[in-house]
Amino acid sequence: MSRSASPSAADLRAYGYLNDQGTWTCAYPGCTSRAIFTRGCDLRKHHKRHTKSFFCHHQGCPQATGGGFSSKKDLARHEAKHNPGVLCEWKGCERVFSRVDNMRDHVKRIHLKANRQSPTAATQSPPGRFGLSVDVKNLHAGTTR
Ligand SMILES: [Zn+2]
Ligand SMILES: [Zn+2]
Ligand SMILES: [Zn+2]
Repeated sequence: MSRSASPSAADLRAYGYLNDQGTWTCAYPGCTSRAIFTRGCDLRKHHKRHTKSFFCHHQGCPQATGGGFSSKKDLARHEAKHNPGVLCEWKGCERVFSRVDNMRDHVKRIHLKANRQSPTAATQSPPGRFGLSVDVKNLHAGTTR
């Protein structure tokens, strides 16, 4: 008289609803996917995306309940659209700041610091050039006198 509910099915109930046809639907609150999973492992795989996702913290944003982002980087980029934050002006840098001052400070400390150590900029005044021109003038002056 046992119903023979396999232990894996019991664990799947935490992820989705079992349909009449023996298929699964994602039960994650706010999941926008209407996908139907015929195999439990597919549902589990799908649900993993929810637990991994990063969601927008702004209320009313469609990305706060559904969708979401798989990485912090993507989320930060999205959230920057909500609050007019300051994106680092350095090419390839994805840091977002609340104020321009903070961004400038970050650029100075993080990005420019690496460039400052280049040896070409420091020694740009060649010595002796001015002295040479004076010598030529003196020579010339000497002959006319
Ligand atoms: Zn889902
Ligand atoms: Zn958002
Ligand atoms: Zn930066």
